[in-house]
Amino acid sequence: MQEKTDVVIVGAGVAGLIAARELGRSGLRVTVLEARDRLGGRVWTDERLGRPLEIGGTWVHWVQPHVWAEITRYGLPVTRGPRAQEAYWLAGDEVRKGTLDDFMELIDPGMRRLLAGTMDVIPRPDAPLSAGGLPAVDGATVQERLDGLDLPVEERNANEAAWVGHLNAPLDQAGFSSALRWTAATAGSWHLMHEASAIFRLAGGTRDLVAAIAADARADIRTSTAVRRIDHGFGGAVVATEGGAEIAADRVVLTLPQNILPDLDFSPGLSEAKLAAGREKTASQGVKVWIRVRGPVAPFFAYSSAHHPLSVVRTEFLGEDDAVLVSFGADATRISPHDREAVQRALRVWRDDLEVLEATGHDWMADPRSGETWLIHRPGQVTRYLEQQRRSEGVLHFAGSDYANIWPGFIDGAVESGLRVAAEVAAAAGAASGTSRSSEAPGS
Ligand SMILES: Cc1cc2nc3c(=O)[nH]c(=O)nc-3n(C[C@H](O)[C@H](O)[C@H](O)COP(=O)(O)OP(=O)(O)OC[C@H]3O[C@@H](n4cnc5c(N)ncnc54)[C@H](O)[C@@H]3O)c2cc1C
Repeated sequence: MQEKTDVVIVGAGVAGLIAARELGRSGLRVTVLEARDRLGGRVWTDERLGRPLEIGGTWVHWVQPHVWAEITRYGLPVTRGPRAQEAYWLAGDEVRKGTLDDFMELIDPGMRRLLAGTMDVIPRPDAPLSAGGLPAVDGATVQERLDGLDLPVEERNANEAAWVGHLNAPLDQAGFSSALRWTAATAGSWHLMHEASAIFRLAGGTRDLVAAIAADARADIRTSTAVRRIDHGFGGAVVATEGGAEIAADRVVLTLPQNILPDLDFSPGLSEAKLAAGREKTASQGVKVWIRVRGPVAPFFAYSSAHHPLSVVRTEFLGEDDAVLVSFGADATRISPHDREAVQRALRVWRDDLEVLEATGHDWMADPRSGETWLIHRPGQVTRYLEQQRRSEGVLHFAGSDYANIWPGFIDGAVESGLRVAAEVAAAAGAASGTSRSSEAPGS
Protein backbone atom coordinates (compact mmCIF):
# COMPACT_ATOMS: atom_id res chain seq x y z
CA MET A 1 0.00 0.00 0.00
CA GLN A 2 1.25 3.49 -0.84
CA GLU A 3 2.09 5.65 2.18
CA LYS A 4 0.97 9.28 2.34
CA THR A 5 2.67 12.19 4.03
CA ASP A 6 2.78 15.98 3.68
CA VAL A 7 6.45 16.42 2.83
CA VAL A 8 9.20 14.02 1.81
CA ILE A 9 12.74 15.31 2.30
CA VAL A 10 15.38 13.53 0.25
CA GLY A 11 18.68 13.46 2.14
CA ALA A 12 19.51 13.77 5.86
CA GLY A 13 22.54 15.99 5.62
CA VAL A 14 22.47 19.26 7.53
CA ALA A 15 20.16 20.95 5.00
CA GLY A 16 17.65 18.09 5.08
CA LEU A 17 17.64 17.84 8.87
CA ILE A 18 17.17 21.58 9.32
CA ALA A 19 14.29 21.58 6.84
CA ALA A 20 12.78 18.57 8.66
CA ARG A 21 12.98 20.31 12.02
CA GLU A 22 11.40 23.50 10.73
CA LEU A 23 8.63 21.81 8.77
CA GLY A 24 7.82 19.46 11.65
CA ARG A 25 7.37 22.55 13.80
CA SER A 26 5.04 24.12 11.30
CA GLY A 27 2.72 21.18 11.78
CA LEU A 28 3.39 19.21 8.64
CA ARG A 29 3.96 15.47 8.57
CA VAL A 30 7.55 15.02 7.41
CA THR A 31 9.36 11.90 6.19
CA VAL A 32 13.10 12.09 5.59
CA LEU A 33 14.67 9.48 3.31
CA GLU A 34 18.44 9.06 3.59
CA ALA A 35 20.42 6.70 1.38
CA ARG A 36 23.35 6.20 3.76
CA ASP A 37 23.21 4.20 6.99
CA ARG A 38 24.04 7.34 8.95
CA LEU A 39 22.87 10.94 9.22
CA GLY A 40 24.96 14.00 8.33
CA GLY A 41 25.90 13.49 4.67
CA ARG A 42 29.04 15.46 4.00
CA VAL A 43 29.63 16.01 7.71
CA TRP A 44 30.83 12.79 9.28
CA THR A 45 32.73 12.40 12.55
CA ASP A 46 34.34 8.97 12.57
CA GLU A 47 36.72 7.27 15.02
CA ARG A 48 39.93 6.65 13.11
CA LEU A 49 43.65 6.89 13.84
CA GLY A 50 42.68 6.89 17.52
CA ARG A 51 40.80 10.20 17.30
CA PRO A 52 37.34 11.46 16.39
CA LEU A 53 38.17 12.70 12.89
CA GLU A 54 36.03 14.91 10.69
CA ILE A 55 36.06 13.05 7.41
CA GLY A 56 34.01 15.82 5.76
CA GLY A 57 33.05 19.32 6.92
CA THR A 58 34.89 20.55 10.00
CA TRP A 59 35.46 24.23 10.63
CA VAL A 60 32.87 26.72 11.77
CA HIS A 61 33.03 30.36 12.85
CA TRP A 62 30.95 33.07 14.47
CA VAL A 63 30.93 35.04 11.21
CA GLN A 64 28.85 32.19 9.78
CA PRO A 65 25.47 33.33 11.08
CA HIS A 66 23.31 30.30 10.42
CA VAL A 67 25.54 27.57 11.80
CA TRP A 68 26.57 29.74 14.70
CA ALA A 69 22.94 30.18 15.70
CA GLU A 70 22.63 26.37 15.76
CA ILE A 71 25.77 26.05 17.87
CA THR A 72 24.31 28.58 20.31
CA ARG A 73 20.88 26.94 20.30
CA TYR A 74 22.27 23.52 21.23
CA GLY A 75 25.06 24.80 23.48
CA LEU A 76 27.83 23.03 21.57
CA PRO A 77 31.39 23.79 22.71
CA VAL A 78 33.91 24.91 20.12
CA THR A 79 37.66 24.26 20.14
CA ARG A 80 40.64 24.72 17.85
CA GLY A 81 43.67 22.78 16.70
CA PRO A 82 47.14 23.54 18.08
CA ARG A 83 48.73 26.84 17.07
CA ALA A 84 51.52 26.25 14.57
CA GLN A 85 55.02 26.97 15.88
CA GLU A 86 56.70 26.30 12.56
CA ALA A 87 55.75 26.96 8.94
CA TYR A 88 57.21 25.43 5.79
CA TRP A 89 56.74 26.60 2.21
CA LEU A 90 58.47 26.37 -1.14
CA ALA A 91 60.39 28.82 -3.26
CA GLY A 92 60.57 26.78 -6.45
CA ASP A 93 62.16 23.55 -5.22
CA GLU A 94 63.75 25.08 -2.14
CA VAL A 95 62.07 24.57 1.22
CA ARG A 96 61.72 27.69 3.37
CA LYS A 97 61.04 27.54 7.10
CA GLY A 98 59.70 30.30 9.31
CA THR A 99 56.82 31.21 11.57
CA LEU A 100 53.11 31.49 10.93
CA ASP A 101 53.49 35.28 10.84
CA ASP A 102 56.29 35.02 8.27
CA PHE A 103 54.02 33.01 6.01
CA MET A 104 51.06 35.34 6.46
CA GLU A 105 53.26 38.30 5.56
CA LEU A 106 54.47 36.45 2.50
CA ILE A 107 50.98 35.89 1.10
CA ASP A 108 49.51 39.19 2.25
CA PRO A 109 50.41 41.32 -0.83
CA GLY A 110 49.05 38.70 -3.23
CA MET A 111 45.88 38.21 -1.21
CA ARG A 112 45.25 41.95 -0.96
CA ARG A 113 45.79 42.57 -4.65
CA LEU A 114 43.74 39.56 -5.71
CA LEU A 115 40.81 40.50 -3.49
CA ALA A 116 40.90 44.29 -3.81
CA GLY A 117 37.46 45.55 -4.72
CA THR A 118 35.63 42.48 -3.38
CA MET A 119 33.02 44.59 -1.62
CA ASP A 120 32.41 46.65 -4.75
CA VAL A 121 31.68 43.49 -6.70
CA ILE A 122 29.62 41.83 -3.94
CA PRO A 123 28.44 44.50 -1.51
CA ARG A 124 25.74 42.15 -0.21
CA PRO A 125 27.02 38.57 0.18
CA ASP A 126 23.53 37.57 1.31
CA ALA A 127 22.31 38.49 -2.18
CA PRO A 128 25.38 37.87 -4.33
CA LEU A 129 23.75 38.58 -7.67
CA SER A 130 21.64 41.55 -6.65
CA ALA A 131 24.08 44.44 -6.98
CA GLY A 132 25.15 43.49 -10.46
CA GLY A 133 28.96 43.39 -10.14
CA LEU A 134 29.46 39.64 -10.08
CA PRO A 135 28.55 38.78 -13.69
CA ALA A 136 31.39 40.97 -14.97
CA VAL A 137 34.03 38.87 -13.20
CA ASP A 138 32.28 35.48 -13.01
CA GLY A 139 33.98 34.24 -16.17
CA ALA A 140 37.46 34.41 -14.65
CA THR A 141 39.37 31.61 -12.94
CA VAL A 142 41.40 32.07 -9.78
CA GLN A 143 44.49 31.02 -11.74
CA GLU A 144 44.01 33.75 -14.37
CA ARG A 145 43.64 36.35 -11.65
CA LEU A 146 46.72 35.10 -9.80
CA ASP A 147 48.75 34.97 -13.02
CA GLY A 148 47.75 38.58 -13.66
CA LEU A 149 49.49 39.62 -10.44
CA ASP A 150 52.86 38.41 -11.76
CA LEU A 151 54.08 37.45 -8.27
CA PRO A 152 57.64 36.31 -7.51
CA VAL A 153 57.85 32.50 -7.43
CA GLU A 154 57.88 32.16 -3.64
CA GLU A 155 54.79 34.33 -3.21
CA ARG A 156 53.13 32.68 -6.15
CA ASN A 157 53.58 29.14 -4.81
CA ALA A 158 52.43 30.20 -1.37
CA ASN A 159 49.33 32.01 -2.62
CA GLU A 160 48.41 29.16 -4.95
CA ALA A 161 48.75 26.57 -2.20
CA ALA A 162 46.65 28.67 0.17
CA TRP A 163 43.91 28.87 -2.46
CA VAL A 164 44.00 25.13 -3.08
CA GLY A 165 43.47 24.70 0.65
CA HIS A 166 40.38 26.88 0.39
CA LEU A 167 38.97 25.80 -2.95
CA ASN A 168 39.88 22.09 -3.16
CA ALA A 169 40.22 22.47 -6.91
CA PRO A 170 42.74 22.98 -9.70
CA LEU A 171 42.92 26.77 -9.77
CA ASP A 172 42.54 26.96 -13.55
CA GLN A 173 39.06 25.45 -13.09
CA ALA A 174 37.98 27.33 -9.96
CA GLY A 175 35.74 30.32 -10.57
CA PHE A 176 37.07 33.61 -9.19
CA SER A 177 33.53 34.17 -7.90
CA SER A 178 34.14 31.69 -5.07
CA ALA A 179 37.18 33.59 -3.81
CA LEU A 180 35.14 36.80 -3.91
CA ARG A 181 32.05 35.34 -2.26
CA TRP A 182 34.04 33.89 0.64
CA THR A 183 35.85 37.18 1.14
CA ALA A 184 32.66 39.23 0.84
CA ALA A 185 31.19 37.10 3.63
CA THR A 186 33.96 38.39 5.87
CA ALA A 187 33.46 42.03 4.83
CA GLY A 188 36.52 41.98 2.57
CA SER A 189 39.07 40.70 5.10
CA TRP A 190 41.13 37.79 3.74
CA HIS A 191 42.56 37.15 7.21
CA LEU A 192 39.09 36.68 8.64
CA MET A 193 38.05 34.56 5.65
CA HIS A 194 41.06 32.34 6.29
CA GLU A 195 40.21 32.04 9.99
CA ALA A 196 36.52 31.40 9.31
CA SER A 197 37.26 28.50 7.00
CA ALA A 198 40.04 26.67 8.79
CA ILE A 199 40.49 27.13 12.54
CA PHE A 200 37.58 26.44 14.92
CA ARG A 201 35.71 23.14 15.14
CA LEU A 202 33.07 21.56 17.34
CA ALA A 203 34.73 19.99 20.38
CA GLY A 204 32.44 16.96 20.27
CA GLY A 205 32.49 16.78 16.49
CA THR A 206 29.92 17.65 13.88
CA ARG A 207 28.13 14.46 14.98
CA ASP A 208 26.89 16.43 18.01
CA LEU A 209 25.32 19.05 15.78
CA VAL A 210 23.72 16.41 13.57
CA ALA A 211 22.38 14.47 16.56
CA ALA A 212 20.99 17.63 18.18
CA ILE A 213 19.09 18.72 15.08
CA ALA A 214 17.78 15.19 14.43
CA ALA A 215 16.60 14.83 18.02
CA ASP A 216 14.79 18.15 17.70
CA ALA A 217 13.00 17.22 14.48
CA ARG A 218 9.42 15.92 14.66
CA ALA A 219 9.91 13.83 11.58
CA ASP A 220 10.07 10.22 10.51
CA ILE A 221 13.75 9.88 9.56
CA ARG A 222 14.72 6.71 7.70
CA THR A 223 18.32 5.77 6.93
CA SER A 224 19.45 3.20 4.32
CA THR A 225 16.53 4.34 2.16
CA ALA A 226 17.73 5.64 -1.19
CA VAL A 227 15.34 7.48 -3.47
CA ARG A 228 15.36 6.32 -7.08
CA ARG A 229 12.55 8.13 -8.86
CA ILE A 230 10.10 10.98 -8.36
CA ASP A 231 6.87 11.38 -10.30
CA HIS A 232 5.37 14.78 -9.77
CA GLY A 233 2.49 16.96 -10.91
CA PHE A 234 0.11 19.63 -9.67
CA GLY A 235 -1.50 17.36 -7.09
CA GLY A 236 1.70 16.19 -5.44
CA ALA A 237 4.47 13.67 -5.96
CA VAL A 238 5.19 9.99 -5.56
CA VAL A 239 8.66 9.19 -4.30
CA ALA A 240 9.95 5.70 -5.14
CA THR A 241 12.84 4.18 -3.22
CA GLU A 242 15.46 1.77 -4.48
CA GLY A 243 13.89 -0.81 -2.16
CA GLY A 244 10.59 -0.56 -4.05
CA ALA A 245 8.54 1.48 -1.54
CA GLU A 246 6.40 4.39 -2.72
CA ILE A 247 5.47 7.42 -0.65
CA ALA A 248 2.97 10.01 -1.85
CA ALA A 249 3.55 13.56 -0.64
CA ASP A 250 2.12 17.00 -1.26
CA ARG A 251 5.64 18.41 -1.59
CA VAL A 252 9.19 17.11 -1.88
CA VAL A 253 12.40 18.80 -0.72
CA LEU A 254 15.54 17.67 -2.54
CA THR A 255 18.87 18.23 -0.82
CA LEU A 256 21.18 16.29 -3.14
CA PRO A 257 24.55 17.79 -4.04
CA GLN A 258 24.34 19.37 -7.50
CA ASN A 259 26.78 16.85 -9.06
CA ILE A 260 24.44 13.90 -8.37
CA LEU A 261 21.05 15.55 -8.96
CA PRO A 262 21.07 14.39 -12.62
CA ASP A 263 21.34 10.77 -11.40
CA LEU A 264 17.78 10.77 -10.01
CA ASP A 265 14.93 9.85 -12.30
CA PHE A 266 12.26 12.58 -12.51
CA SER A 267 8.99 12.44 -14.39
CA PRO A 268 8.42 14.93 -15.87
CA GLY A 269 12.14 15.69 -16.12
CA LEU A 270 13.67 18.68 -14.37
CA SER A 271 14.43 21.82 -16.34
CA GLU A 272 17.81 21.82 -18.04
CA ALA A 273 18.95 24.77 -15.91
CA LYS A 274 18.59 22.59 -12.80
CA LEU A 275 20.80 19.87 -14.22
CA ALA A 276 23.39 21.69 -16.31
CA ALA A 277 25.74 22.60 -13.47
CA GLY A 278 25.62 19.03 -12.17
CA ARG A 279 26.54 17.71 -15.60
CA GLU A 280 29.41 20.20 -15.93
CA LYS A 281 30.41 19.29 -12.35
CA THR A 282 31.78 21.53 -9.63
CA ALA A 283 35.34 22.81 -9.90
CA SER A 284 36.04 21.27 -6.49
CA GLN A 285 37.39 17.76 -6.97
CA GLY A 286 40.05 17.49 -4.32
CA VAL A 287 41.03 15.32 -1.43
CA LYS A 288 41.25 15.59 2.35
CA VAL A 289 43.73 13.25 4.03
CA TRP A 290 44.22 12.51 7.72
CA ILE A 291 47.76 11.36 8.53
CA ARG A 292 49.16 9.84 11.73
CA VAL A 293 52.90 10.39 12.08
CA ARG A 294 55.36 9.24 14.71
CA GLY A 295 55.85 11.87 17.43
CA PRO A 296 56.43 13.94 19.27
CA VAL A 297 56.05 16.64 16.63
CA ALA A 298 56.03 20.41 17.17
CA PRO A 299 52.81 21.90 15.76
CA PHE A 300 53.44 23.09 12.22
CA PHE A 301 51.80 23.81 8.92
CA ALA A 302 53.19 23.55 5.41
CA TYR A 303 52.15 24.84 2.00
CA SER A 304 53.63 23.54 -1.27
CA SER A 305 52.01 24.61 -4.54
CA ALA A 306 48.85 23.91 -6.51
CA HIS A 307 50.68 21.24 -8.49
CA HIS A 308 51.72 18.93 -5.66
CA PRO A 309 49.42 16.05 -4.61
CA LEU A 310 49.11 17.64 -1.16
CA SER A 311 49.18 21.43 -1.19
CA VAL A 312 48.50 22.05 2.50
CA VAL A 313 49.23 20.04 5.64
CA ARG A 314 49.08 20.88 9.31
CA THR A 315 48.95 19.36 12.79
CA GLU A 316 45.43 18.99 14.17
CA PHE A 317 45.99 16.61 17.13
CA LEU A 318 49.16 16.25 19.19
CA GLY A 319 49.92 13.09 21.20
CA GLU A 320 52.91 12.11 23.31
CA ASP A 321 54.27 9.68 20.77
CA ASP A 322 52.29 10.59 17.67
CA ALA A 323 50.54 13.47 15.93
CA VAL A 324 47.63 13.58 13.50
CA LEU A 325 47.88 15.92 10.52
CA VAL A 326 45.14 17.11 8.20
CA SER A 327 45.97 17.72 4.57
CA PHE A 328 44.35 18.84 1.31
CA GLY A 329 45.10 18.47 -2.38
CA ALA A 330 43.42 19.88 -5.50
CA ASP A 331 42.74 16.61 -7.30
CA ALA A 332 41.44 13.38 -5.74
CA THR A 333 42.85 11.34 -8.61
CA ARG A 334 46.43 12.38 -7.76
CA ILE A 335 46.60 10.70 -4.34
CA SER A 336 44.56 8.17 -2.39
CA PRO A 337 44.05 8.97 1.30
CA HIS A 338 44.64 5.28 2.03
CA ASP A 339 47.99 5.00 0.22
CA ARG A 340 50.47 5.37 3.08
CA GLU A 341 53.53 5.30 0.78
CA ALA A 342 52.16 8.00 -1.50
CA VAL A 343 51.31 10.16 1.50
CA GLN A 344 54.82 9.65 2.86
CA ARG A 345 56.25 10.77 -0.50
CA ALA A 346 53.97 13.80 -0.55
CA LEU A 347 55.19 14.94 2.89
CA ARG A 348 58.84 14.65 1.78
CA VAL A 349 58.30 17.75 -0.34
CA TRP A 350 58.81 19.69 2.87
CA ARG A 351 60.18 17.29 5.45
CA ASP A 352 61.95 13.95 5.49
CA ASP A 353 61.83 13.62 9.29
CA LEU A 354 58.14 12.63 9.45
CA GLU A 355 57.29 8.93 9.52
CA VAL A 356 53.79 8.21 8.30
CA LEU A 357 52.19 5.47 10.41
CA GLU A 358 48.69 5.51 8.91
CA ALA A 359 46.60 7.64 6.58
CA THR A 360 42.87 7.77 5.96
CA GLY A 361 40.06 9.77 4.40
CA HIS A 362 37.10 9.30 2.10
CA ASP A 363 36.81 9.63 -1.66
CA TRP A 364 33.86 12.00 -1.76
CA MET A 365 34.25 12.43 -5.50
CA ALA A 366 33.74 8.72 -6.17
CA ASP A 367 30.98 8.39 -3.56
CA PRO A 368 27.66 8.14 -5.47
CA ARG A 369 25.85 9.88 -2.58
CA SER A 370 27.94 13.03 -2.86
CA GLY A 371 29.96 13.14 -6.12
CA GLU A 372 31.69 16.29 -4.85
CA THR A 373 33.49 17.69 -1.81
CA TRP A 374 32.47 21.23 -0.91
CA LEU A 375 30.99 23.29 -3.71
CA ILE A 376 33.27 25.55 -5.70
CA HIS A 377 31.77 26.86 -8.91
CA ARG A 378 33.45 26.80 -12.28
CA PRO A 379 33.71 30.12 -14.12
CA GLY A 380 30.31 31.43 -15.16
CA GLN A 381 28.25 28.90 -13.22
CA VAL A 382 26.99 31.31 -10.58
CA THR A 383 25.46 33.72 -13.05
CA ARG A 384 24.26 31.01 -15.43
CA TYR A 385 22.66 28.62 -12.97
CA LEU A 386 22.36 29.62 -9.32
CA GLU A 387 18.97 31.37 -9.44
CA GLN A 388 17.46 28.56 -11.49
CA GLN A 389 18.94 25.83 -9.36
CA ARG A 390 17.19 26.94 -6.21
CA ARG A 391 13.86 27.83 -7.78
CA SER A 392 11.04 25.40 -6.96
CA GLU A 393 9.51 23.40 -9.84
CA GLY A 394 5.86 22.65 -9.09
CA VAL A 395 5.79 20.68 -5.85
CA LEU A 396 9.57 20.11 -5.85
CA HIS A 397 11.80 22.35 -3.73
CA PHE A 398 15.60 22.51 -3.75
CA ALA A 399 17.81 22.94 -0.70
CA GLY A 400 21.46 22.23 0.04
CA SER A 401 24.60 24.11 0.80
CA ASP A 402 25.42 24.27 -2.91
CA TYR A 403 22.56 26.75 -3.34
CA ALA A 404 23.26 29.04 -0.38
CA ASN A 405 23.80 32.78 -0.54
CA ILE A 406 26.34 33.70 2.12
CA TRP A 407 28.53 30.62 2.65
CA PRO A 408 27.85 28.28 -0.26
CA GLY A 409 29.65 24.97 0.16
CA PHE A 410 29.84 25.35 3.94
CA ILE A 411 27.85 23.86 6.80
CA ASP A 412 26.49 27.37 7.28
CA GLY A 413 25.14 27.31 3.74
CA ALA A 414 23.40 24.01 4.42
CA VAL A 415 21.62 25.53 7.45
CA GLU A 416 20.73 28.67 5.49
CA SER A 417 19.24 26.68 2.63
CA GLY A 418 17.30 24.37 4.96
CA LEU A 419 15.72 27.38 6.65
CA ARG A 420 14.93 29.10 3.37
CA VAL A 421 13.29 26.08 1.79
CA ALA A 422 11.34 25.17 4.92
CA ALA A 423 9.82 28.64 4.88
CA GLU A 424 9.08 28.30 1.16
CA VAL A 425 7.38 24.91 1.63
CA ALA A 426 5.43 26.00 4.69
CA ALA A 427 4.15 29.03 2.81
CA ALA A 428 3.26 26.94 -0.22
CA ALA A 429 1.48 24.38 1.93
CA GLY A 430 -0.43 27.12 3.66
CA ALA A 431 0.77 25.78 6.97
CA ALA A 432 1.02 28.09 9.91
CA SER A 433 3.02 27.27 12.97
CA GLY A 434 0.89 25.79 15.75
CA THR A 435 -2.06 24.83 13.56
CA SER A 436 -4.21 21.83 14.36
CA ARG A 437 -2.23 19.66 11.93
CA SER A 438 0.55 19.45 14.49
CA SER A 439 -1.46 16.88 16.40
CA GLU A 440 -1.05 14.53 13.45
CA ALA A 441 2.72 14.90 13.23
CA PRO A 442 4.76 11.77 13.94
CA GLY A 443 6.21 11.81 17.43
CA SER A 444 3.84 14.51 18.64
C1 LIG B 1 36.13 16.86 2.76
C2 LIG B 1 35.17 17.97 3.09
C3 LIG B 1 35.58 19.02 3.90
C4 LIG B 1 34.70 20.05 4.20
N1 LIG B 1 35.10 21.04 5.07
C5 LIG B 1 34.20 21.95 5.50
C6 LIG B 1 34.52 22.83 6.58
O1 LIG B 1 35.62 22.75 7.14
N2 LIG B 1 33.57 23.72 6.98
C7 LIG B 1 32.34 23.77 6.40
O2 LIG B 1 31.52 24.59 6.81
N3 LIG B 1 32.00 22.94 5.39
C8 LIG B 1 32.89 22.02 4.94
N4 LIG B 1 32.54 21.12 3.99
C9 LIG B 1 31.25 21.26 3.33
C10 LIG B 1 30.05 20.82 4.14
O3 LIG B 1 30.33 19.59 4.76
C11 LIG B 1 28.86 20.68 3.18
O4 LIG B 1 28.69 21.85 2.43
C12 LIG B 1 27.54 20.41 3.91
O5 LIG B 1 27.70 19.43 4.89
C13 LIG B 1 26.52 19.99 2.86
O6 LIG B 1 25.28 19.71 3.49
P1 LIG B 1 24.00 19.40 2.59
O7 LIG B 1 22.94 18.95 3.52
O8 LIG B 1 23.74 20.54 1.69
O9 LIG B 1 24.46 18.20 1.62
P2 LIG B 1 24.86 16.69 2.01
O10 LIG B 1 25.54 16.67 3.33
O11 LIG B 1 25.60 16.15 0.85
O12 LIG B 1 23.45 15.97 2.18
C14 LIG B 1 22.80 15.33 1.12
C15 LIG B 1 22.27 13.99 1.64
O13 LIG B 1 21.53 13.34 0.60
C16 LIG B 1 21.82 11.95 0.69
N5 LIG B 1 21.48 11.32 -0.59
C17 LIG B 1 22.18 11.35 -1.74
N6 LIG B 1 21.54 10.68 -2.71
C18 LIG B 1 20.40 10.21 -2.14
C19 LIG B 1 19.30 9.43 -2.62
N7 LIG B 1 19.22 9.01 -3.90
N8 LIG B 1 18.29 9.12 -1.77
C20 LIG B 1 18.33 9.55 -0.47
N9 LIG B 1 19.34 10.27 0.02
C21 LIG B 1 20.36 10.61 -0.79
C22 LIG B 1 23.29 11.91 1.02
O14 LIG B 1 23.66 10.65 1.55
C23 LIG B 1 23.40 13.04 2.04
O15 LIG B 1 23.20 12.59 3.36
C24 LIG B 1 33.39 20.06 3.66
C25 LIG B 1 32.98 19.00 2.87
C26 LIG B 1 33.84 17.97 2.58
C27 LIG B 1 33.37 16.83 1.73
